[in-house]
Amino acid sequence: MYYNKETQIFLDGQWIKAQNGKTNLYSQTLHYGAGVFEGIRSYKTDKGANIFKAKAHYERLHYSAEKMHINLKYSVQELIDLSYELLERNQLEDAYIRPLVYLGENMSLQPTEDVHVMLCAWQWGRYLGDTQLKLMTSSFQRPNPKSCFVEAKVSGHYTNSLLATTEAKQKGFDEALLLDMNENVAEGPGANFFFEKDEKLFTAPLGNILSGITRQTIFELAEDLGFEVVEKFFKVEEVYQADGAFFTGTAAEVAAIGSLDNHSFNLPWEKTLGYQLEDAYQKCVHIK
Ligand code: PMP
Repeated sequence: MYYNKETQIFLDGQWIKAQNGKTNLYSQTLHYGAGVFEGIRSYKTDKGANIFKAKAHYERLHYSAEKMHINLKYSVQELIDLSYELLERNQLEDAYIRPLVYLGENMSLQPTEDVHVMLCAWQWGRYLGDTQLKLMTSSFQRPNPKSCFVEAKVSGHYTNSLLATTEAKQKGFDEALLLDMNENVAEGPGANFFFEKDEKLFTAPLGNILSGITRQTIFELAEDLGFEVVEKFFKVEEVYQADGAFFTGTAAEVAAIGSLDNHSFNLPWEKTLGYQLEDAYQKCVHIK
């Protein structure tokens, strides 16, 4: 699904076939999760492929690397240029781009100078699909910001996300909603969360969540459309009374949520601000 025998990837300065890629089994990333990555989308436009907010994504990759003491030798502009070349080489326009910065062999718990950069891309439909999601409040909390850098996109942080999504699916839900260490609603396993009440939007402030690039885009689009967005801490009980809710993320885009813990929201999705934002988002990503 992610590659075939023709697929090319960028690895440490070279273009190779994905099927010929190899990794060291003593990689610090494989054992301890010390790697950083991004999730980026490119969209087909009438002026060719448009990598949406490429600069913001690669700046976040640099931030994540710095927090994890990883020396990332490619500049933001080099990574953007390589991403466009990756699309061209694989004849992709509507695509999901996955840059991964991973480490070489080192079994100690100290930084390593052996840093590898891999870029790959594949066609990927909307991560959470197109149906209104049934969410459950996860029994797992998001990592405490005193235990790691929650705003860094670190491979190891995703064990928390995997546990939460798996638990939700095993219980018959589509996806999880995680609380922070103070039991306020934080975010989804791979997306930020917004809810609507009385024509206002609410989302968790930064501090215990990933600072989503789509979340930021929603702030910008909401401003254009004259919708108020309030960043504040809130509990699940407040969400149970909501008029509507949605997730935002590069892979998920703007994903409608139908219910939380079997409490359905008051408005049909088509009547919500989220619906209008989803439309505005699709327009915005398709303009180059
Ligand atoms: N939160 C988490 C935990 C995520 O993994 C993601 C996906 N990167 C997001 C939020 C959304 O971030 P973005 O909009 O930058 O894709």
